[in-house]
Amino acid sequence: MSKPVRVRFAPSPTGPLHMGGVRTALYNYLFAKKHQGTFILRIEDTDQTRFVPGAQEYIVDALKWCGILPSEGPNIGGDFGPYVQSERQAMYQPYAEQLVAEDKAYYAFDTAEDLDRMRDQAKEMGMPNWQYNSVTRATMKNALSLPQTEVAQRIANGEPYVIRMKMPRNEEVRFHDLIRGWVVVNTNNLDDKVLFKSDGMPTYHLANVVDDYTMQISHVIRGEEWLPSAPLHVLLYQAFGWDAPEFAHLPLLLRPDGNGKLSKRDGDRLGFPVFPTNWTTAEGELYSGYREKGYLPEAFINMLALLGWNPGTPQEIFTLEELVEAFSLERVSKSGAKFDPEKTKWFQQSWLRMQADADIAKGLKATNPTLNISDSALETLVGLMKERATFAEDILTDGAYFLANPSAFDTETIRKKWKTETTGYMNEWLDRLSGISEFNSANIEAAFKGYLEEKGLGIGAVLLPYRLSVTGVGAGPGMFEISAFLGKEEVLHRMKTNLPTIEAMLHEA
Ligand code: GLU
Repeated sequence: MSKPVRVRFAPSPTGPLHMGGVRTALYNYLFAKKHQGTFILRIEDTDQTRFVPGAQEYIVDALKWCGILPSEGPNIGGDFGPYVQSERQAMYQPYAEQLVAEDKAYYAFDTAEDLDRMRDQAKEMGMPNWQYNSVTRATMKNALSLPQTEVAQRIANGEPYVIRMKMPRNEEVRFHDLIRGWVVVNTNNLDDKVLFKSDGMPTYHLANVVDDYTMQISHVIRGEEWLPSAPLHVLLYQAFGWDAPEFAHLPLLLRPDGNGKLSKRDGDRLGFPVFPTNWTTAEGELYSGYREKGYLPEAFINMLALLGWNPGTPQEIFTLEELVEAFSLERVSKSGAKFDPEKTKWFQQSWLRMQADADIAKGLKATNPTLNISDSALETLVGLMKERATFAEDILTDGAYFLANPSAFDTETIRKKWKTETTGYMNEWLDRLSGISEFNSANIEAAFKGYLEEKGLGIGAVLLPYRLSVTGVGAGPGMFEISAFLGKEEVLHRMKTNLPTIEAMLHEA
């Protein structure tokens, strides 16, 4: 690669960033870092009708949470700014006018009603997909169909007009996509797209091409939904006499069942987030985000990276740095990538396990300010529960018995496993426990083994009831560790309080 790599993520602030958008940003970032290039954030807000307040801030914040940090962009700066298209507005018109002067584009005066009328007429005649193109433009109100004097008059009168691309007739547009290979389209299938609107704003197409050129973008890496626009963009580069950047169109993200594109409504409907962070609409509707659900950004990014790309090795867990190292566009697949919520949880679980206990404990203290436990005790608790948790908060919810005597008991297990002699064993074991002077897990375990041996009992006959009477549940980390954590006094107190409760429960049945 001779030219320096400069790539951009160019979202439109029309709402929150879908996880597909985050993946596009991620692949751009990885590609840039891999090639010692520059990753740029550009906000494409030329469609003022679709502008959503707060969306730009959301995008910036979400990328920050993910650790996908642009080196140029709004509020960051750079040599190619501004990085928000509405702030570049004055720049675009001369380019559109240049194409008009060179007979590659033209003024058109058709109103929205004119266009609707044409569409309706065509539909009545059995042509549902009417297009403004090289055939129909002669029947419309534009500089190619109207007399020159009328065109001049309309402009002099301040009549609103748009500038349309004069799509050449029957020409082949060819370009090479780094993921999809050669793409060939005949211009007869393309319409005379609006390049410049009557509100004085460029359309996405013109602004996108002008900005990619003036920002010296080397590679355009974006979602597959933009593939149909790429031939027009290639023609625009040709019309301006500019070298086009390389293109790479990323595969779609599909629903878990593979049935169609993953949409913003799927998430909360199917029980998983589709957005990186929470988003509340102006109407107060909440779309949940990975961050607020308790996902680690590392897990989210790791999962996203593998949706449509594979390293060619069995490795699944990657840090961002490792992804930079391993990433290549060659290994991005052409076909859609099925989102798998269960696998996403697996990534989260794996990443949680890799966090230091102290860090998790610190996070829990921050999210649960009323937590009444010392830092070191919480760290021990985290160490004991981490392997069983998916989210950090699970440690406190599933391990609530570390913090307080349980008020609820697993009745089903108790009914199944509690034999007539069990309470008797528990009372004897309680006695042994009270005799342990240094109440650490090794000593408790030794006492336990001694008791079993003496009585000729199997582990299950005593350990499970012991667990149930101290924690209320039938599974958890090692009982000797739990006991040591709680301390002798608390364990004895719980057994004395809970054994009668359990007995009562059994008699109730
Ligand atoms: N503004 C477009 C979007 O919202 C960007 C498409 C592109 O990257 O060219 O996705």
